[in-house]
Amino acid sequence: MLSIEQLSHVYPNGMRALDRVNLEIPRGMFGLLGPNGAGKSTLMRTLATLQAPSEGRIRFGDIDVLAEPGRLRATLGFLPQDFGVYPRVSAYELLDHLAVLKGIAHAGQRRDTVASLLNKVNLWSVRNKAVAGFSGGMRQRFGIAQALVGDPALIIVDEPTAGLDPEESNRFLNLLAEIGENVVVILSTHIVGDVADLCPRMAVLANGRILLEGSPAELMAEM
Ligand code: ADP
Ligand code: ADP
Repeated sequence: MLSIEQLSHVYPNGMRALDRVNLEIPRGMFGLLGPNGAGKSTLMRTLATLQAPSEGRIRFGDIDVLAEPGRLRATLGFLPQDFGVYPRVSAYELLDHLAVLKGIAHAGQRRDTVASLLNKVNLWSVRNKAVAGFSGGMRQRFGIAQALVGDPALIIVDEPTAGLDPEESNRFLNLLAEIGENVVVILSTHIVGDVADLCPRMAVLANGRILLEGSPAELMAEM
């Protein structure tokens, strides 16, 4: 369970991107829906411990996230909105390297981890190809594999379907839902269709505030 209490963030220019956000996020897929500029990325980066909020409290299980960011990072998988420059290194090498960074020292165990992740996201057949040459859909699936190295209990995915065609997008979301059964997955998006079918619970963020929270059916009734 991820618990967010009275979380606010004001950027140096005075922009209040988050305004007293309270959320209880249970295990499974949780959708964070909101228009551009709502504060979704600010919230996702704050939860991923990439930026500190102005105020508030975040707990994940027994971890006080703001006081012990290292403990959260050890169990976090983060797929940022734009995971940037795509290296010319092969998918296999990249995941293997990440596994080293995550402390999986034993070569055999690493081989098993990397192979199982590449199979899970259906990229085993292109494991020796450079990620730089991947299509948008392949990159996002590779992003899931990256986020899953080290068996995280919390997975944060920021606007994952931007730039994907509907088929790739569905494929990606179904994969995420499969993974999401036993962990906390937060999926941020401005597309209602991304969350309505897959997330048993969701919240709507606008102007840094939570406007609505509940099951998709409850929210649709209010919107
Ligand atoms: P979303 O991800 O929902 O589009 P963001 O969290 O990126 O929203 O942004 C929320 C608001 O905060 C927007 O008005 C955005 O322009 C502003 N913002 C984001 N980052 C910064 C920053 N570094 N400095 C100032 N304002 C920012
Ligand atoms: P998002 O889709 O998350 O809203 P943006 O394209 O708005 O992303 O922002 C990209 C980057 O620029 C982010 O790192 C964000 O923090 C920063 N940013 C966004 N708005 C502002 C702003 N008004 N002033 C300064 N930086 C900003």
